[in-house]
This record gives sequence, C-alpha cells and structure tokens, in this order.
Amino acid sequence: MKYISLLGATGSIGRQTADVVRQHPGQFKIVAMSLGTNLPQARLFIEEFQPELVSVQFRQDCEALKNEFAGSGIAFTYGDQGLIEAAVHEKANILVNAVIGSVGLNPTLQAIKAKKDIAIANKETLVTAGHIVIEEAKRAGVKLLPVDSEHSAIFQALQGEKEKNIERLVITASGGSFRDRTRAQLQNVTVEEALHHPNWSMGTKITIDSATMMNKGLEVIEAHWLFGLPYEKIDVLLHKESIIHSMVEFHDSSVMAQLGTPDMRVPIQFALTYPDRLPLMNSNRLNLAEIGKLHFADMDFVRYPCLRFAYEAGKSGGSMPTVLNAANEEAVAGFLDGRISFLEIETIIEKALTNHNTIAAPDLDIIQGIDRETRGFVKTLLKQR
Ligand code: NDP
Ligand code: MG
Repeated sequence: MKYISLLGATGSIGRQTADVVRQHPGQFKIVAMSLGTNLPQARLFIEEFQPELVSVQFRQDCEALKNEFAGSGIAFTYGDQGLIEAAVHEKANILVNAVIGSVGLNPTLQAIKAKKDIAIANKETLVTAGHIVIEEAKRAGVKLLPVDSEHSAIFQALQGEKEKNIERLVITASGGSFRDRTRAQLQNVTVEEALHHPNWSMGTKITIDSATMMNKGLEVIEAHWLFGLPYEKIDVLLHKESIIHSMVEFHDSSVMAQLGTPDMRVPIQFALTYPDRLPLMNSNRLNLAEIGKLHFADMDFVRYPCLRFAYEAGKSGGSMPTVLNAANEEAVAGFLDGRISFLEIETIIEKALTNHNTIAAPDLDIIQGIDRETRGFVKTLLKQR
C-alpha cells in the first residue's frame, strides 16, 4: 500500500492523481492533501478520500472547513506552513507534488528530509533550485520520480540502460495554442485564445507556458537536473500530435521512444507504481494505423524566444534559472489578469534576466531572496503599464 500526500489536489494533475487513486483503492490511500481556494472540489475529495490532514491556502477557509467537518477526526491547516505539514505527514511514504509554482520548493525539500519519495509534477521547483533538490534527494536516498510526460517518457526509455551510453535526449513539443500562427499574428491574441491547447487539458499557467514555449524551456532545465546531462545533450523537437512523449538517443544511434495517447494519468500512475505497472481504465489505447502519420519539425528559436531564454539561463546556471522562473510566473499572472499583452510576457522575462548578475551555487536563502527580488522587479514593470 502506498500512502500519498497530494499537494495541489484540486488542480489538473491533482484531480487526475485522485482518479488514479480511485481506480486502485487497494494500492493507494491519500493521507494528506493540500489545495488553494477551490473549496467545492475540496469538499468532494474530503468526503471521498477521508484524508487525515487537509491544508488550504488561507486561514478563513481553514476555519470554515474545520467547522463543517467538526467531529470527523480530520485535521485542517493552512498557508505555507500547512503545505509543509501535509508534505511531511507521518503516514505518507510518497509526496505527489502537483502545486503550481515555486511555492512547491520548501514542501519538497522538507519531504525529502523526512525520507518521502517524491513524484514531481511541480517543475518550477526543479527549475528554481534543481541543484539543491537533487543533492538533498541523493543525500536522503529518496526517489525523485518524474510526472511530467516528457520526463516520464525519458525515464521509461532509460529503464535498464546506463547513463554513460546516452548520446542525447530529445524532448518533444506540441507547439501550444499558437503553433500555426506567425509572430506577427501574436500581436493581439487574447487570454481565451491562449488557453485553448490543441492536445492537452491543463491548468491555466502551464497552458500559457505551452503557448510561449516557456513550458518546454522549463522542461529542458527539469531534464538537466533529473537526468544529469549538459544542455548541449538536450534537444527539443516539434511534434504536433503529442504521441511520442520524448526520446533517448544512444551512442550507437539507437533511439528509444515512449508513445501513447495524451493522458497525464499514465505518467502519474507510473510514478506511483514504478517499477510495476497497473491497468488504467478509460485511457485511450494508441491506434497508430488510425493516426496514420506523425509530424516532426526542428525547433525555431526565433519564433519561440522563451525557449532560447531558458537554454541561456540554464547554461548560465547558478541563480539565473530562479530569475527565469520567477519572472515567468509573474509575467504570466500579468497576462492572465489582462495587464500585459501576450508578447510582453517575453519582453518582461528578458528584462528580468538582463537585470540580474548570476550568483554561482546559491543556497536556499539566496534563492528565496532572488525569487522575491525578481517578483518585485516584474511587479514594478507591471505597475508602470
Ligand atoms: P493547476 O493550476 O490546475 O493546479 C494547481 C494546484 O495548486 C491547485 O490545487 C491549486 O489550488 C493549488 N495552488 C495554487 N497556488 C497555490 C498556493 N499559493 N498555495 C497552495 N496551493 C496552491 O495546475 P496544474 O495541475 O496544471 O499543474 C501543477 C504542476 O504540474 C505545475 O508545476 C505544472 O507545470 C505541472 N504539470 C502539469 C501538467 C498538466 O497536464 N496539468 C503536465 C505536466 C506538468 P486551487 O485550485 O484550489 O486554488
Ligand atoms: Mg510536459
């Protein structure tokens, strides 16, 4: 039996994780969960999964739920400290981190210290402080299991293989909502258009990240940390069908790919069952004869400057990826709020990166300071609008 602490239960990944748990009641139990502000969804999950601990973002919501569930034996907590309490719940042996943003960093580090395995969806954590997370996980001897579909694909392709035999990783990219538009056609795109992803149904922030291609940039940095390869050995390939989830090429020119219909429950479940597999109900089987053709194209760094920023930030190393991530989180929030245009997301991130001098090997305090500083810098830019 796996006892799960699920952070971000009410989100896209959180709800799909709940579905995997629902399908295998004898294998998995959610003992702790966290959410932000979606109380209606939280109530349904509390009734269904009867966790021992629930953390919400705000105190007043915590008080409300405490009253509603008085006498149930369920404990409620809130805020950043609540996220940590849920992450290190004594009965949990695995943390599924599906919160959005670098708010997931501290709970991840605390869970690692408490010797929990980590199924990591929250890529911002690895982008912001990959060197610390990887080092702590090694030291604690816990597993870091990828949930992101591309990284799960690479992880699956590497089973039984030796790291020293890898020539390069090839991360596939669907191209996001605006893949059929030129840069000139991006001038006046709306939030609603940006939120319409052709292949995947995901949370709002990652859907915008997919449209700017920053999502792929974050994934390149995530792959660098998870698989320990230099950026020169991590390539991105456009593949609009999202059927090949990513590939590994070996020195002998052999390529291993993982394929499947786009369904995040597959990598979520694999992270929970690894090295085993379980059936997954209602997941569409891949029918290649029906699909007929798959398409591929080289990545265009002029069309997608955010991917270039991510490679550059990754190669600079140190504190630069922290700036990339924090600036992106704030700029995307600004776009979703209607304060800036779609293309201004890029210009704002570029300004934040240019404004920063890399600090090599920053510790956690420095990273948190730079994260705050960058958010402040971007917020000032947004206010000037
Ligand atoms: P969503 O926006 O759908 O969900 C985010 C979750 O985090 C919700 O439960 C939300 O609560 C909660 N949350 C948000 N802010 C806070 C906060 N400040 N404190 C506590 N909880 C908070 O995101 P996704 O599920 O799409 O993505 C989650 C992570 O997984 C991201 O890092 C993303 O990049 C990654 N990922 C997602 C994929 C997908 O298919 N969605 C694919 C691969 C990776 P509430 O809604 O209750 O306010
Ligand atoms: Mg992905």
